Amino acid sequence: MAALSALSAPDIRAAKRLVVKIGSALLVDRTGLRQGWLSALALDVAEVKLRGTDVVLVSSGSIALGRRVLGLPDGALTLEQSQAAAAVGQIRLARAYEEVLAPHGITTGQVLVTLEDTEDRRRYLNSRATMETLLGLGVVPIVNENDTVATDEIRFGDNDRLAAQIAVTVGADQLILLSDVDGFYSANPKEDPGAERFDLVETITPELEAMAGDPISGLSKGGMKTKIMAAKTAVAGGCAMAIMEGSVLRPLKALAEGAARTWFVAGADPQVARKRWINAMKPRGEIVVDAGAVSALRAGKSLLPAGVRSVAGAFGRGEPVAILGPDGAALGKGLIRYTAEEARAIAGHKSGEIERILGYAGRAALIHRDDMVV
Ligand code: GLU
Repeated sequence: MAALSALSAPDIRAAKRLVVKIGSALLVDRTGLRQGWLSALALDVAEVKLRGTDVVLVSSGSIALGRRVLGLPDGALTLEQSQAAAAVGQIRLARAYEEVLAPHGITTGQVLVTLEDTEDRRRYLNSRATMETLLGLGVVPIVNENDTVATDEIRFGDNDRLAAQIAVTVGADQLILLSDVDGFYSANPKEDPGAERFDLVETITPELEAMAGDPISGLSKGGMKTKIMAAKTAVAGGCAMAIMEGSVLRPLKALAEGAARTWFVAGADPQVARKRWINAMKPRGEIVVDAGAVSALRAGKSLLPAGVRSVAGAFGRGEPVAILGPDGAALGKGLIRYTAEEARAIAGHKSGEIERILGYAGRAALIHRDDMVV
């Protein structure tokens, strides 16, 4: 189906930070791990990294792998069985990635997250900092949901939405969902021969959302519905998202060469979107800073405790606070890295004194510049 506007599709070769979601059905079949496919994917990842692009892989497959190893019967598993299967499968999944990427000189790291890690601001900031450090060190994080501890009410349940959340968390500019369908269709292509694939989606309208049916594939959890939800999260966070058929060898190369896919284009760049998100939050407290801090913040620096005159309000770590100048004029907003009590204790002190005052070595900045709008 023709593009809805003159906007052009993103080019994967121009991605700065790329998140790739790999569905279970691509990685695992009835005989086990699809080694040939995975080795080819490693070539793709190596090529992308050589271009200087950061890569995060969000991979499903722990339950599919584990259930085979445990000899669990076909069909639906109980929650406890899936959790056991995930525990057995995840260790193999992570090792498989490590084994295919190491020959390319790429170091991998395993990151297991739960829904709470992205909803709770303190944990969100922590996982963000860890991911940033890993990427800074050139590592390819292999991310999955921590299925062994996540129970039904508190889990993502599908890696489409998890991948979108991760993409926004790390400020990725592109997210690729490698799936068993080659894009987003106006109807289920397996049932309706008249279904047409969208090349480019600029706005996710309610009509478009209504076109997404229910899950179709047996092995993976996500259907088009979760993919549309993922697309909404991604584009709102400034990240473009593509859905493509991933079973070809070297899918990322295929995408660069024009393979069929649907691109959902992003509204603003990730940094801008993040700042907008912070700006829209209701502050839980007020931090009055001195004149020196005002110039530092205006110059794009982080807020250090030394520049803080007073702290008002009750807030926890990672919560939004308003930043005011010495005259009480609103200066900006940010996510603070200390609780109100801690912030009061270290206000006016040098960062080097934090450990002595609080009894532990916290972060040097009270509000990091990436978490601030001025
Ligand atoms: N986290 C699950 C697994 O690794 C997969 C969820 C999904 O398929 O989206 O098995």
